[in-house]
Amino acid sequence: MADIIKLLPDHVANQIAAGEVVQRPASVVKELLENAIDAGASSIKLIVKDAGKTLIQIIDDGKGMSDTDARMSFERHATSKITTADDLFNLNTKGFRGEALASIAAVAHVALKTRPEGAEVGTHIEIEGSKIITQEVCATPKGTSLAVKNLFFNIPARRNFLKSNSVELRHVIDEFQRVALAHPDIAFAMYHNEGELFQLPKGNLKQRIVAIFGGKTNEKLVPVQEETDILTINGFVVKPEFSKKTRGEQFFFVNDRFIKSAYLNHAVTAAFDGLLPDRARASYFLYLKVDPATIDINIHPTKTEIKFDDEHALYAMLRSTIKHSLGQFSIAPVLDFNRDSELDTPYDYKNKGVVTPKIEVDRTFNPFESVPAPKRGAQRPDYEKPDVTGWEKMYEGMESQATAGSTVTFEKEVSTGNMFESGLNTKAAAPITATAGSQDESSTYQLNKKYIVSTIKSGMVIIDQHKAHQRVLYEEFLRNITVKESVSQQLLFPLTLTYSTTELALIEELKEGLENTGFIFGLISGDILEINGIPTSITESQVPVVIDQLLSDLENEVPDSGFSQTDTLAKSMAKSLAVKGGETLDSLSREHLVNSLFACKEPSISPTNKKTFITITGDDLDRKFK
Ligand code: ADP
Ligand code: MG
Repeated sequence: MADIIKLLPDHVANQIAAGEVVQRPASVVKELLENAIDAGASSIKLIVKDAGKTLIQIIDDGKGMSDTDARMSFERHATSKITTADDLFNLNTKGFRGEALASIAAVAHVALKTRPEGAEVGTHIEIEGSKIITQEVCATPKGTSLAVKNLFFNIPARRNFLKSNSVELRHVIDEFQRVALAHPDIAFAMYHNEGELFQLPKGNLKQRIVAIFGGKTNEKLVPVQEETDILTINGFVVKPEFSKKTRGEQFFFVNDRFIKSAYLNHAVTAAFDGLLPDRARASYFLYLKVDPATIDINIHPTKTEIKFDDEHALYAMLRSTIKHSLGQFSIAPVLDFNRDSELDTPYDYKNKGVVTPKIEVDRTFNPFESVPAPKRGAQRPDYEKPDVTGWEKMYEGMESQATAGSTVTFEKEVSTGNMFESGLNTKAAAPITATAGSQDESSTYQLNKKYIVSTIKSGMVIIDQHKAHQRVLYEEFLRNITVKESVSQQLLFPLTLTYSTTELALIEELKEGLENTGFIFGLISGDILEINGIPTSITESQVPVVIDQLLSDLENEVPDSGFSQTDTLAKSMAKSLAVKGGETLDSLSREHLVNSLFACKEPSISPTNKKTFITITGDDLDRKFK
């Protein structure tokens, strides 16, 4: 047999390796920012066009490269940062694998200009898909400028896989912020499509945080500090009353490197125990310093996980340090273990507009668990009999319905059954065989405050109210956005909401889509978003909720790439506005929902691809009883 094994040509090998290092514009941003820091820059500028899809350029005033080094830097495994494997355990640079530039050059058009201190002229190199097409001397300031254009120009599949600009921009900003937060002693600036997003002068940590997250951040920060033999902790946590519901600023840095750690996050959350409003997330900027020999930084270039030798000790220290800081700033409640923290803190939402009070819903309440039947007077309108899920009960309902020849609902059957059983009230027992005396003539029934049950010709249908409503709203918003025929309600007084620079940049990206749903924006500047009109389908108080949900969805957008920004917008709005499980629906709302669902184009699945309903036919039931 002929030999078939071949060595891959370099540019192919580089393209394959690139897949590991360069997943999206943000990965390029991270690598280039880190190179600039490793080069000792004191000022770094990031210029991005179209969320990095068209251009990512980093300009630094670091040590620059000689002409040979400039050429070498694009070779795979070319690095100035380590020479032996032992150096790996002694790292004080960000990069060391010597792969980033080679990988980036394999999948983009790259232009490098660099000049080391003392050299008269600099070097200009252009590379396209790993091939050097220009190398010449040039006049350029000391330091390095690296421009990465048309990312994935030669890998259309990857290019198509990129998300919308708003999502990619979010990732780019995230990387930028992480690096900028880790190095307050370096000046940073960031521009997107010619607009300035960040201008961060050198300063201390607090100044850096405030410069990134806005002037109001200052008053929200509580300092955290602790020094022990194995660990130094520095930084800030955000006072609990400023915590956010759907998203928070959560930053851990270990030895100046941004890391993610669910375990340490848990330690912080535990320190906030009892102080956070329901389901809010703690925000923090925490800088840990440990002996590099006691951690194992995953050397995979894109990973942000880390392993500590003594995780438990770290956890305990972090938790108690933060608890102490919160206590010192008299934020923690003192010796009052039973009080309801919800009741005593007038959480400051003044920047979030007026919010109508919501009815508290106990999501854990399960009527099926209660053993003693409640008294008649105390009966909730949607109270259900404990064993309603039992098939025989349902069947009973079906049967009596058939024999009665009327539209007796499950609800009546079940609740009257319960009254009968409890034997408290003979009047209540009476209706068990008839529909008379019942207030609700509905043909639908709400189960567990979560499902709507209705009869259909072939049997019954069980609808998940939250998922079904999402589908209904999703199609409605999608229609509005694409057909651009939505109706707005003009607000008498414009609504003014405060957001960070990042958030406003994202809202700006989505502006057109939002306007098509019925939003009318006024001024967007500084950290202020002015809203003059809103879609008729939402209320003023829902606006902050909708926008927060949208921002957090953009952040965590599920991998359904190929879908447009329009789609994300419609999904997100549907998600935040749909009725939740746990909400009681009256018969009119139930019927309306059922009818709207079945009027949808795709009634059977939710926008996130879950079932909206299931059916159980008479045959299914018959089989159950065989
Ligand atoms: P690594 O950072 O792992 O060494 P890279 O591919 O990112 O690998 O960079 C290769 C080399 O190019 C670096 O080791 C460094 O010597 C040089 N280099 C890259 N970027 C810069 C820069 N902005 N300024 C000076 N030198 C740089
Ligand atoms: Mg590098």
